[in-house]
Amino acid sequence: MSKATVFSKSRKGISPSYHSQSAHAARLDLPELSEVDVIRHYTGLSLENHGVDNGSYPLGSCTMKYNPKRNDVAAELTGFRDTHPEQPEESLNGLWKLMFHLQSYIAEITGMDAVSLQPAAGAHGELAGLLVIHRYLQQQRENRSVILVADSAHGTNLASAAMAGFSCKIIPTTAEGLMDVQALEAALDDNVAALMLTNPSTLGLFEKNIMQIAKMVHENGSLLYYDGANLNALIGLVQPGAMGFDVVHINTHKTLSTPHGGGGPGAGPVGVKEFLAPYLPAPIIRSIGEDCYRPDHMPAHSIGRLKSYFGHTDVLIRAYAYLLTIGREALHEVSQDAVLNANYMQAALKAYLPQVYPGFAMHECLLSADHMPISAYDLAKRLIDYEVHPPTLLGAGCVYFPGKLQSAMLIEPTESESKVSLDRMIDVFKIVIGEANENEALVKNAPHSTKVSKIIMKGD
Ligand SMILES: *Cc1c(COP(=O)(O)O)cnc(C)c1O
Repeated sequence: MSKATVFSKSRKGISPSYHSQSAHAARLDLPELSEVDVIRHYTGLSLENHGVDNGSYPLGSCTMKYNPKRNDVAAELTGFRDTHPEQPEESLNGLWKLMFHLQSYIAEITGMDAVSLQPAAGAHGELAGLLVIHRYLQQQRENRSVILVADSAHGTNLASAAMAGFSCKIIPTTAEGLMDVQALEAALDDNVAALMLTNPSTLGLFEKNIMQIAKMVHENGSLLYYDGANLNALIGLVQPGAMGFDVVHINTHKTLSTPHGGGGPGAGPVGVKEFLAPYLPAPIIRSIGEDCYRPDHMPAHSIGRLKSYFGHTDVLIRAYAYLLTIGREALHEVSQDAVLNANYMQAALKAYLPQVYPGFAMHECLLSADHMPISAYDLAKRLIDYEVHPPTLLGAGCVYFPGKLQSAMLIEPTESESKVSLDRMIDVFKIVIGEANENEALVKNAPHSTKVSKIIMKGD
């Protein structure tokens, strides 16, 4: 077909009127496809992907919980959708009001005094929190340059500390999976700016010495940072502020059910205790009168802007819709269900995959594949053939969670999964474990149902 005929060959034989308008118009070599062909193409592509809308996704620490469609409906309301960040601020009062209430709600949930909604992701929230600490220490004329990080910490903790200009020191984990308090004691000196910690830890365990840890850190003149990417185990039950934390970020795309969407956009609001409030990234939304709200673009001591305009407002609207849908009185049930589901899976599977650490799990459980003829990596990839997304892998050779463990899986079913779906996931694990014992190659070469199969490393 010549380029000239491309535009005129439509299904019904009707030429678009613009075709003949200008002989000079550049003729685009576009493929001629009907709407239904395009829809089928993209729907087909979407089905090649695994998402929370088409299967279980027990990816520990990443919290792939269901994103209620009601949140999307809220974000799609024309009053939000058809706004522009450059329009006059007084015409956006409704958006500021929502953001002001979201700031307050997150402050309440985390036990903090002030919140900025600016950061665009969890790691961005960490960076914001650490820059706040940096600025505060500078103003106190304190020269502290070290951030202590647990060896089980998410990799972003170290990266954020480095980006904020600190160096890191790693605190080991005990045989019970908790922070080694003696090692912490030894590491605390007058060069330590802060300890970054998450509780529950990324091993799915509650750091039961937290009050002692907080006391030690504060007596050393250091601050306590809470990586609240997954507040799922504690939301509505325990406030990080009450555990002694001074700074916290949360991931709305984990804790508050907004989509992860291929690495973004998310949001990582950062909250602080009163003495750090002046340093928060701007703008902060303030109440300036009866039902009147505006952004405060540059509070006096703010670390400044980390993001254009007002953060990921469409994500923040979804987070707020989620909080309103659940309601204050029921928020704790989110955590209770998340913890119950993780323990249900742990109990059902521990005869097959032993717990790495004893006791109850929090919102995720860590199970070992060390005794298996295959690695956790192989096992996880075979789950894909049964439409279960692999859990997070911990252990030697893992990119995000290296560490001392040999081969373990961090399983986080989330509160979204029903008992039927948990039972199905458990059955799938059992089937794959059975296969591994009978036919190693079948499991080792999995997945067999995907377009792209496993990349076999040299020496595997
Ligand atoms: C996911 C996660 C992060 C990083 O969040 P991003 O939004 O991916 O930047 C930090 N800490 C923990 C514990 C996490 O699970």
